[in-house]
Amino acid sequence: MDCIFCKITSGQIPTNFVAVSEHAVAFNDISPRQPLHVLVVPKKHFTDVSELTKAAPEILADLMALAVQVAGDKSEGSFRLSFNTGEKAGQSVFHAHAHVTSVEPR
Ligand code: 5GP
Ligand code: ZN
Repeated sequence: MDCIFCKITSGQIPTNFVAVSEHAVAFNDISPRQPLHVLVVPKKHFTDVSELTKAAPEILADLMALAVQVAGDKSEGSFRLSFNTGEKAGQSVFHAHAHVTSVEPR
C-alpha cells in the first residue's frame, strides 16, 4: 500500500517527531494552517478515525493522550483537536490522524 503516513511512522521517510507514544507519533504538518499545526498519527494503518475507533479503541486512547500532551507542551492552553473524516470533510490522507492546531504556540 502506498501510504505517506505509513512511510513516515515506519521511518521510511525520515521525520523529526515532536513526540512519540506506544502507538502513535506526532510531527509538524508540512503545510501549517495555524502557528502550531501538529499531526498525531497511529503507527498502525487505519483509514480514518471511525475505523480506528471501532477497530482499536486502545490505540485511539493512546493517540488522544499524545495529542493532549503535545497541545499542553506546545500551546498556551488554547488549541483545536480535529479529525477530518471523508473526502467531503477535507480528508486528503487516508491514514487516520488528528490535527492539533493553535493560534497561540508556546
Ligand atoms: P487531512 O487533509 O487528511 O485532514 O490532513 C492531511 C494533512 O497532512 C494536511 O494538513 C497536509 O498538509 C499534511 N501532509 C500531507 N503530506 C505530508 C507529508 O508528507 N508530511 C507532513 N509532515 N505532512 C503532510
Ligand atoms: Zn498508512
